[in-house]
Amino acid sequence: MYFLKKMQELLTKLQQQIEDNHIKSIKHLYHILKQTNPFKTFEFPENEVNDLELQLKQKLLQEKLNKKLSIESIELEEHNLDNLINHWKQFKNIVVMCGAGISVNAGIPDYRSKGGFYDFIEEKYPEYRSCPEQVNSISFFLRNPSVFYDLYLQSNYQSLFHAKPTKTHEFLKWLHDNNQLLRVYTQNVDHLELQTGLDREYVIQVHGTNQTSRCHKCKQEYNTKEFFANEMHKQNHFLCTSCNKGRVRPNVILFGEQLDTKLLQFHRKDFKQCDLLLIMGTSLQVYPFASFIDLVPTSCYRVLVNKQLVAPFDQKTTKRPRDFAILQDCDTVVQQIM
Ligand SMILES: [Zn+2]
Repeated sequence: MYFLKKMQELLTKLQQQIEDNHIKSIKHLYHILKQTNPFKTFEFPENEVNDLELQLKQKLLQEKLNKKLSIESIELEEHNLDNLINHWKQFKNIVVMCGAGISVNAGIPDYRSKGGFYDFIEEKYPEYRSCPEQVNSISFFLRNPSVFYDLYLQSNYQSLFHAKPTKTHEFLKWLHDNNQLLRVYTQNVDHLELQTGLDREYVIQVHGTNQTSRCHKCKQEYNTKEFFANEMHKQNHFLCTSCNKGRVRPNVILFGEQLDTKLLQFHRKDFKQCDLLLIMGTSLQVYPFASFIDLVPTSCYRVLVNKQLVAPFDQKTTKRPRDFAILQDCDTVVQQIM
C-alpha cells in the first residue's frame, strides 16, 4: 500500500508539473524523476535522454506553430454575424459561456427583467427588496429555510417541472456534433444543456444544478423534485431524513460559497486553447464567472450574443480588436448559424 501511495503522489506531482508547463525538457523531467522516485527504480541512459529531448522539442515547436497558425489564420473582414457565419467552419475549439438569457424562451424567469425573480421578492417579501441577493445566500438558507424554499421554488419551478431546451441549447449539441465544441460553461442551474443529450463532460455547471439536493450536514443526496413533492419536509423544517440534524439544501452554489476547485483546474486549459469564445445570454455581473473571459488568448475572437451590450464589448472602450457584440435574442442568432 505504501508503494501505491507513493507512486500516486509521484504521478500527481508530475501531472501537475506538466500541466503547469514547468517541464521544459526531457532533461528536466529526468531530473524530477530522479529526485522524486522513492525506490530508485528509474533508469534512463543519458544518450536516450538527449535523443528524446530533441524529439520533444521538435514536437512541441510544431504543435505550438500549428495552433498559432490555425487561430491566427481566421480573419473576419467585418465584425458581424454574416462574416462570422462565413468563417464558421474554421473554428475548431469553441467555448460557450452562458447565462439566464438562454433559458428565458423556455419560460424560466431571469433575475433582473420585469416579472423576474427580483420583482417577485419585491411583491411577496418587500423586507428583502433592498438587497434581494441575500435570499440566495447560504446564511439566509440556514436562518430562514421556509422563506428560502418559497422563493427557490418560485424561481426554479418551471425548470424543475416543465421547461424544455431552447434553440440555443440545441445549438450547443449541434456544435458538439460538428466537432467544434470544446466546452460549455453555464451559470444556469436548470440542467437544460444536458437535456439536449449533450455529454456531461462537455458541460460545466459553474453554479451547480437544481436537479439534486443534499443534506447540509451529512451530505445525503436527494432528488429535488421528490423533495419538494414530499410535504413532510416542510413540517420537519426541511430536515434530512437520514441524520435528522442537517437541513436539505439544493446543489447550487449560493452566495457566500466557493466554486468547485476541480472546475477551476479544468478551465485553465480550455480557455487557453479556445479560438472562439461565445458569451450568450449573460450580462457578466457575477464573479468569478465573468472573469473567465480574460483567460482566452488575444488571437481568440470573443463574441457577445445578448440583448443588451455589456461593458467589455463596447467598441469605444474595448482593448481587444477581436471582440464584438451581436445584440439580438440568442435563439434568433443561432438559427441563422445552424
Ligand atoms: Zn443529513
